[in-house]
This record gives sequence, C-alpha cells and structure tokens, in this order.
Amino acid sequence: IDDYLHKEVLVLGLAKSGLAAAKLLHQLGAIVTVNDIKATDDDLVVQELRVLGIQVVCGDHPLSLIKDSQVDLVVKNPGIPYSNPLITLAVERNIPVITEVELAYKISEADIIAITGSNGKTTTTTLIYEMLKEDKKQPLIAGNIGKVACEVVQNATNENVIVMELSSFQLLGTIEFKPSIALILNIYDAHLDYHGTRDEYVRAKGKIYENQLKSDKAIINFDDKDVCERSEISQAEKIFFSTTTELEGGTYIKDGSVWYKNERIISIKEIVLPGAHNLENILAAITAVKLRGVSNESIVKVLTTFKGVKHRLQFVEIIDNRRFYNDSKATNIFATSKALQAFTVPTILLAGGLDRGNEFDELKPSLKYVKAMILFGESAPKLERIAIESGIEVIKCVDNVEQAVSTAFEVSEKDDVILLSPACASWDQFKTFEERGDMFVQAVHKLK
Ligand code: ADP
Repeated sequence: IDDYLHKEVLVLGLAKSGLAAAKLLHQLGAIVTVNDIKATDDDLVVQELRVLGIQVVCGDHPLSLIKDSQVDLVVKNPGIPYSNPLITLAVERNIPVITEVELAYKISEADIIAITGSNGKTTTTTLIYEMLKEDKKQPLIAGNIGKVACEVVQNATNENVIVMELSSFQLLGTIEFKPSIALILNIYDAHLDYHGTRDEYVRAKGKIYENQLKSDKAIINFDDKDVCERSEISQAEKIFFSTTTELEGGTYIKDGSVWYKNERIISIKEIVLPGAHNLENILAAITAVKLRGVSNESIVKVLTTFKGVKHRLQFVEIIDNRRFYNDSKATNIFATSKALQAFTVPTILLAGGLDRGNEFDELKPSLKYVKAMILFGESAPKLERIAIESGIEVIKCVDNVEQAVSTAFEVSEKDDVILLSPACASWDQFKTFEERGDMFVQAVHKLK
C-alpha cells in the first residue's frame, strides 16, 4: 500500500472507476491529478474531488500533464485506447499505465476469483457468486459487472471471496494482478477495433493467467483452442471443462448429467437456465466453486432456481402454458442466434430496434423453430424481408414493445416460447437495453 505514498499519479477518465481510483489513491497518500475530456468545472464529481484537494483538468487531454511533471503512474479508464496521445507518451517514457483493477489487486486482502471471456462473463460471474453465497462463503461481486473493483475491495476482509468479472480492456492494464482462480470462458473475434489484432486481444485475455503461481488454479475451456493455447503461460494447476468431451480430471457431461471429476452433480434436465451456451457457463462456474469447497447441494439449489441474469435469456414467467423470455441484451445477430438455438419448440420472436446498417441475413439459419416474428423499431422493414424469405407464417410489424407482447400472445398457442431477443441496439426507442427489457417484462406481467 505504501507503493503509492507521495507518488504523482495521473488518473485518466472520470467515470465511476476513475472517481473511485482517484479517491483511493488520495487516501493512500498519492498526489493525484484527474483528467477527463468530457467533464466540466460544473460537474458535481469534479467539485467533490477538488474539495479533497485533488487537481482536476477538464475538457482536454493536454500533453503537458505528462511533459511538465514527474508522473510516476497513470491509471486509465479501460475504454481509453492506447493510441491516446497521453498514453502513448506515458508508454514512451516507461511510466506504468494501469487500470483500477490493478489497484484493487494491490490493496486486496481477500481471495480473488477472476472471470473473463468474450461472451458469458456476467452470467458466469453471477452463477459463481450465487453458488458461493448459497454455501455461506461470503462472496462479493466486482469488476466489469458494474461494481468498481477498487471500491469493493476496500470494504472486503480476508473472510471474503471477490468474484471479479474482467474485460480485456481492464486486463490489459494489469501488471501484478494475480487471481487465485482464473477463468477464460471463450475467445471470439470481438473488440478488434480496440485491440488492433486478434493476437493482441488473445494476449490481453491471457493476462488473467500470466502471474499465477503453482498454488493457484487456472480454469480452461477445453473446447476453445485459443484459451487452451493461452493457458500454457500459467504456472497454476490447470482444470479443464468441456461440453463435448468426457474429461476425467475436470468438469464434463456424461449420460445427460454434469460431472466434476468422478462426482455426478446434476442432471441437465433439472437446470433452469436454457441454452448450450449457458451449459458452458455452468460447467465453468461449477469448476470454480468446487475448487472452493462448495457442496453439491448448494450448486444444485442454484441451478434448479436461478432464472438467468436480467435481460440475458432471463426466464420471465409462464402464462397459459406459454413461456416468456427476456433477452434484451441481445443487441446483435450473433446473440439472437444463440438465444434462438436454446429452444426446440415453436418460438415467437420479438425483434427490431436501431438499424446499424445490418442486413440480418445471418439470422436465417437460426429461425428453424420460429413460427412468428413480431417486429418493431427502425429495423422492422429489414427484418420483415428476412422473415418473408425464411417462410415464416406469421409476420406482424407493431409500434412498440407493449404491442409486440400483446400481439405475440394473440398469435401464440399452448407450449410456445415467446422470446424478446431484438438483434438490434435499443437507442431508437429506449435509453438502454435494460429499459427495453423492463418494459417487456412489465407488459408480460400485465397479460395476466
Ligand atoms: P458478457 O458479460 O460477456 O457480455 P453475458 O453473460 O452478459 O456475457 O451474456 C451476453 C450474451 O452473450 C447472452 O445473452 C448470450 O446471447 C451470449 N452468451 C452468453 N454466454 C455465452 C457463451 N458461453 N458462449 C457464447 N455466447 C454466450
């Protein structure tokens, strides 16, 4: 902790994480300057920091912040790219550039389980948290999931287990960060605009394993070639999970059940969360909590009751034998395809939203069980073309999500799935995908 005493630290970006990092560093005796290009002198947070004696520079990223002072450390918001001139200059001058996750690690007394991957991070992080909680292991959730890590860690003791979701952007800014359990779920082509190349992206994710020691554990997706290759840098004990191969020493599927080593944990039929992709998340979560001694009873309790993270293929309710699911987080074709693949019964798909120039043709192979499409938002006409070309029998264009719900109900029959999975961003009609999902859920409840 003394590492920061009297050190000159430049905090770049004044989002929630920048604010927390600046305050923490100030408390630890550092001389802190905060710089944010969008903030203004009138912002309450700016004033709050200035009252503490922290210098805040708004509206610009002046190079003088590094050129004219003796900066020892830069803490940057994960979203600020390395091509930012201030960061480039810091790197040139060998000034360490970190994200607040590194700070969190340095001050943490608690055990850290860290989770990354291209898809499924939030679901898996939540599953691990719920299973630990069910088993009375005092978990705290942190990181990319919306809880600033260095803030959570400050309130933790060595009795706690921190379950930390990490993005590749956050990981790129780590130096000594070392979780006792590290997990990479999968690596897909994503965020290549930020990382430049796929290799860079894989390397960033791989940092989660990099500093691990023999006494630590690395959880590895056996079915993902990149994850397997990257895990070779870890010194930790390696434990694999697979949805396709029976791995005696890991977590796997055999005879319709999930197994960990030689223990049968649960029959797949009993699991509430739908979808093959969620099975991957479940196997990963089971592996993590088994390593922390969670009982099979606690695991089963969570898997037979957990309905999914809000807005992510979240089970809403059954009305007149129709099952409703909210997958508002599905803001692209890829996510909606995954959601559709989770069901093998007649499905009514509610989709549409902001048109980002997509043509949606890639959705066609996933429409096998879709019997009706209820479309709304800017992209409705384009989706209508896809529906017609796919021979979908019932196609309706409506004005909003409420109408979509009532129309879907009218055209539905017993045992259908009614799924909101828009394949589009929400900003044409909503502030956020959360607002869209909440409206859907409300409209479903009103049907009763
Ligand atoms: P993240 O936090 O990585 O964005 P989430 O758990 O929020 O992931 O899930 C977001 C979406 O990603 C889900 O709605 C689903 O469509 C898809 N998804 C979730 N888990 C996986 C997985 N293991 N593999 C592929 N896609 C997944």
